[in-house]
Amino acid sequence: MDQWIFVPASLIVFVLGASIGSFVNVVVYRLPAGLSILYPPSRCPHCLNRLKAYDNVPVLGWLWLKGRCRYCKNPISPRYPIVEAATGLIFVLVFLIFKFSLLTIGYWLFCSWLLALSIIDIDTMTLPNQLTKSGLVLGILFQMVLGFILNSWSGLVNQMVIAIAAAVFGLWLFDIIARVGTIVFRKDAMGAGDAKLAAMMGAWLGWKYLLLASFIACIAGVFVESSTTVLAQKKSKRNQPFPFGPYLALGSAIALFCGEAILSSYFRFFFPE
Ligand SMILES: [Zn+2]
Repeated sequence: MDQWIFVPASLIVFVLGASIGSFVNVVVYRLPAGLSILYPPSRCPHCLNRLKAYDNVPVLGWLWLKGRCRYCKNPISPRYPIVEAATGLIFVLVFLIFKFSLLTIGYWLFCSWLLALSIIDIDTMTLPNQLTKSGLVLGILFQMVLGFILNSWSGLVNQMVIAIAAAVFGLWLFDIIARVGTIVFRKDAMGAGDAKLAAMMGAWLGWKYLLLASFIACIAGVFVESSTTVLAQKKSKRNQPFPFGPYLALGSAIALFCGEAILSSYFRFFFPE
């Protein structure tokens, strides 16, 4: 197919991603607060006025309102357009790697879930069950569909068993990471939500990429948290728990986008021909 199709297609994908990102903003704001995700429609958190459709356009709406509510002129957090733009970019990245395929649609979902979970974890230090469990079920369904396309009903059953096994492996792996983490950080850095996220990652990524993602998450977590601890030492911020979800999400994204390259160079390094 003509390569030029990817230029206009990427633009459409970005707009789609940014719109999903605007929904991610709603989810991360309302879900931890126990509010309905579907009702009421977008409104200003200060004056509760409904947003006009044209103010609700992802990224651009915030820009032409210059970051202030049309009615009460209270500032609107730049987090909204940033999350929208980030989701758009992630969608384009997934699209450019997996092209026009079912994988693209599946991984759009997976990445949206990871993004929402990361933001909620940073905000509230929790990973809501509704998201980790629905993400796990979606991941297993996704593998079943892939299996069915590959090898009809036996492929479907096969992929389902593999996905469930990888999810269980995630729970088990996490138990080990949590124990090691407790020794390394001398604190309970992780909660039950992280284990459920690991199970969800197992279903989506398979056991190999789950291992890789968890490894990257631990390295990144230790590096970032220990360097910020050193910087913040004077303020005695030590031994504060930190959200591990964003690191797991980061590890998942890296495994998804460059897992093949990382694993093949790893095996070439340790097992040269
Ligand atoms: Zn307002």
